Amino acid sequence: MTAYDYDLFVIGGGSGGVRSARVAAALGKKVAIAEEYRYGGTCVIRGCVPKKLFVYASQYHEHFEDAAGFGWTVGESTFDWKKLIAAKDAEITRLEGLYKKGLSSANAEIFETRAELVDAHTVRLVSSGKTVTAKTIVIATGGEPNHHGALPGHDLCITSNEAFDLEALPRKIVIVGGGYIAVEFANVFHGLGVETTLVYRGAEILSRFDHDLRRGLHEAMAAKGIRILCHDMLKSVAKGEDGLKVETLNNGMLDADVVMLAIGRVPNSHGLGLEAAGVRTNEHGAIIVDDYSRTSVDNIYALGDVTDRVQLTPVAIHEAMCFIETEYKNNPTKPDHETIATAVFSQPEIGTVGLSEEEAGKRYSEVEVYRAQFRPMKATLSGRTEKMIMKLLVDAASRKVIGAHILGHDAGEMAQLLGITLKAGSTKDDFDRTMAVHPTAAEELVTMYAPSYRLRNGVRV
Ligand code: FAD
Ligand code: NDP
Repeated sequence: MTAYDYDLFVIGGGSGGVRSARVAAALGKKVAIAEEYRYGGTCVIRGCVPKKLFVYASQYHEHFEDAAGFGWTVGESTFDWKKLIAAKDAEITRLEGLYKKGLSSANAEIFETRAELVDAHTVRLVSSGKTVTAKTIVIATGGEPNHHGALPGHDLCITSNEAFDLEALPRKIVIVGGGYIAVEFANVFHGLGVETTLVYRGAEILSRFDHDLRRGLHEAMAAKGIRILCHDMLKSVAKGEDGLKVETLNNGMLDADVVMLAIGRVPNSHGLGLEAAGVRTNEHGAIIVDDYSRTSVDNIYALGDVTDRVQLTPVAIHEAMCFIETEYKNNPTKPDHETIATAVFSQPEIGTVGLSEEEAGKRYSEVEVYRAQFRPMKATLSGRTEKMIMKLLVDAASRKVIGAHILGHDAGEMAQLLGITLKAGSTKDDFDRTMAVHPTAAEELVTMYAPSYRLRNGVRV
């Protein structure tokens, strides 16, 4: 008989929290979980899932255009934003229900309230004021968009949170940032017919990705009609007679109905009672954890975005599964953050795993770069001018493939499979002896026989 109300209390019902609670409960632990907004968290309610549904919606315009090259005559098409929002809402409500059902079927107790720490073993349920105790606590409170408090007029701007529920589709949007969210939403809004401008402070969008993908995507987006202003920042946003007036540092004034900030996310650690419990955070508010996701307090773990390691859903889930192994299966397991495959659901899409060319050049003395750029088969009849880029980086000494990068249709799907290959430590020779699947775009990955060029000590030769 435990001295606590619960074996485990989880704060936050998102990707990491729900997985921790559900699996611990299924192991027979007495578990409770609290969520202050909606079960499913960022990913399900206002992240990955609705975003991908929006991406699909925004692609039909091009599908209709492409159809003509294949003999189709498509009648007049119209788009209804409200219908999309309603369909999206129904789907995320369905998923939210499944998350809750999974928890209750495993016998986890579900609280719909904010929860805060009182001390290392006590949690206050804010809606009722009641306190409960637990032997172990998991903090999985995620993050929230950076609202850019220093920007005059920031309160007139939206973030990705609001983008999912806009009353009406804007005519003109300015999106600030050059990361995942800015790039994905610029393509979504443009695809739905919105005049879209992206303002990014750096030299090229997607700063942490391989340069070929960054450049290739920029060119493809610009060719579609998305205006991309690099080396620029917002000075202010103000209400104008007809919409918003956006003052930029280098491009003068821009008009917009909506300004969306997509400049990173900050950990949701404020007001959680961390000091009272003795849980330490870093200067950005991220909860500091050791290799096993344990905080500065022995019985309190933190995982997912609130720890600001890698802000991706599968990572939060993986960290939760490692927590379960460590805490409940007598099998201390460190989350593995190496070689994480990822996709940017831009149009064209990016799929990538392993090192960029720049990183590979820094880490390995000789790198073979295999690069193919080609027009995908579908574009021959559709008449689209788009190009696909595929790139493999190989450590010349070990022959291991250390980076794989794709720009083009289904790049995310391919990145998932390449992720297995690179994780398994495949060599270029393994790629070479793999039979191609014909006709596909992916066959290029196994038919690039000679390096396009090499890097020696980081320098192209
Ligand atoms: P979250 O899922 O954010 O869950 C935290 C939960 O805790 C929230 O529901 C919150 O309401 C709740 N909470 C916070 N404080 C409290 C409290 N005190 N008490 C009770 N509840 C609390 N990742 C991908 O891998 N692929 C994608 O395509 C992708 N797209 C994205 C698109 C957008 C627009 C955004 C914003 C993110 C996207 N992500 C994507 C990132 C992904 O959503 C996050 O990495 C993931 O959700 C993190 O999971 P988590 O469990 O750490 O936190
Ligand atoms: P990112 O970290 O991807 O990008 C943030 C962008 O904002 C960068 O371009 C950054 O510039 C810029 N920036 C940061 N601070 C400022 C500032 N003060 N003024 C102007 N620009 C600024 O964050 P996102 O918000 O796009 O997304 C958050 C996270 O969510 C992502 O990192 C990712 O982990 C996850 N996500 C994953 C998706 C996926 O898997 N497909 C999709 C969406 C989100 P610089 O590069 O110069 O630092």
